Amino acid sequence: MTDDHQRLQRAIQLAQTNVAQGGRPFGAVLTRDGDVLVEAVNEIHLTQDPTAHAELLAIRAASRQLGTRLDGCVIYASGQPCPMCLSAMYLCGVERVVFAASNEMAEPYGLSTAAIGQQVGLPVSEQRLPIQHLPDEAMTTLYHQWKTLHAPE
Ligand SMILES: [Zn+2]
Repeated sequence: MTDDHQRLQRAIQLAQTNVAQGGRPFGAVLTRDGDVLVEAVNEIHLTQDPTAHAELLAIRAASRQLGTRLDGCVIYASGQPCPMCLSAMYLCGVERVVFAASNEMAEPYGLSTAAIGQQVGLPVSEQRLPIQHLPDEAMTTLYHQWKTLHAPE
């Protein structure tokens, strides 16, 4: 069994345990340089936080632990990451993601996020969620101030 299979098996095992404990069927393992840094499960049932996805919780914990971006990290997820978690992976520099259950497989169980992915991929004006752009000069000033004070070189 390859390392990838082994890590993914662990993510699935976490998902199984989570279901047994009243949670949703999602688990994630985050590694760096082959070492497991964090294991997480979906905690919506515990927190009522709709963003408490396994991958996002793993990213938060690993970021706190490392104090840096997550470049070079790999995430193993029992299910195909939703657009929120995928976006977080792009934001923090995760190097690679491996998942077991696809959106296609999850669809009959109401566990697919493909429809959200479709919306997010559309131009702003065509998305189902009304998204309004109200430009304000104060933001240009603020961004300029931030760049002067804190922006990375
Ligand atoms: Zn997610």
